[in-house]
Amino acid sequence: MYRLVRCLTCNEIFFKTPYDQWPEYEYPSPLSTDVFQIVEKDDYQDFLKQHQDHPMENLEILKDSLVSEKPYSEPIKISYFKATNGKETFVIKKFRTRIDEPLAYQLIPGDYSLNLLRLEIQSEAISKQLEKEIDPSLISNHQIESFLKLFQKILKTIDLKNLDRIPEESPHPLEIYYKLDDISLVYLLRNCRNMFKGQAYRAIEAFIDRHKEDGVLLLKATYQIKIHESAQKRKVPIPIQNAYKEKQYIEKK
Ligand SMILES: [Zn+2]
Repeated sequence: MYRLVRCLTCNEIFFKTPYDQWPEYEYPSPLSTDVFQIVEKDDYQDFLKQHQDHPMENLEILKDSLVSEKPYSEPIKISYFKATNGKETFVIKKFRTRIDEPLAYQLIPGDYSLNLLRLEIQSEAISKQLEKEIDPSLISNHQIESFLKLFQKILKTIDLKNLDRIPEESPHPLEIYYKLDDISLVYLLRNCRNMFKGQAYRAIEAFIDRHKEDGVLLLKATYQIKIHESAQKRKVPIPIQNAYKEKQYIEKK
């Protein structure tokens, strides 16, 4: 079971995975003749010892909240996910600085949002694909450029809110592909009718049809992660002795 435990005093967290109690294998140096030794490990016990007498709470991880600045397959990267104690939300920063280091988790009170950096057409992929699929005697390089210019112009009129996201996972978590909306598609075709004639138009029309759903005509949006840290006073723990004195004082009154 995955569990996220927060120490309220230090604002530190522990991510309890099924693995933290697994023994860690220590490989001997190449010169050593020993077989590897097994080191028993229980990181969670270490965490509890370190935060003895501090109040703790469980945090619930918010589903589908994981975002990362680099592809999922990249071992060294910073990722963020959200968690809550039912009253407050937190951003959990998950990272490692070296490949042989264990993952570290840092608690940030607040939230994150994904801000759109740019929305663009896949110009290079489109022209490569056009050159590959359509005979140059039908469509010249100059016409390919005109087609890209037209598509760019249409892009400027598009509101991302009206677009459907392509659910297939992009290898990069911050690059998301969207399908062109029907109105923009009609507009694109209508303009192509003026730009290309006869056989050339039929070729480009078929090209658009082939690539509008999942091909090079998808629009690419690039996002960035923005962390909104909530201004929160760090709780200063009252030493137990003083807390007791304070209580006595209040009772005397
Ligand atoms: Zn603590």
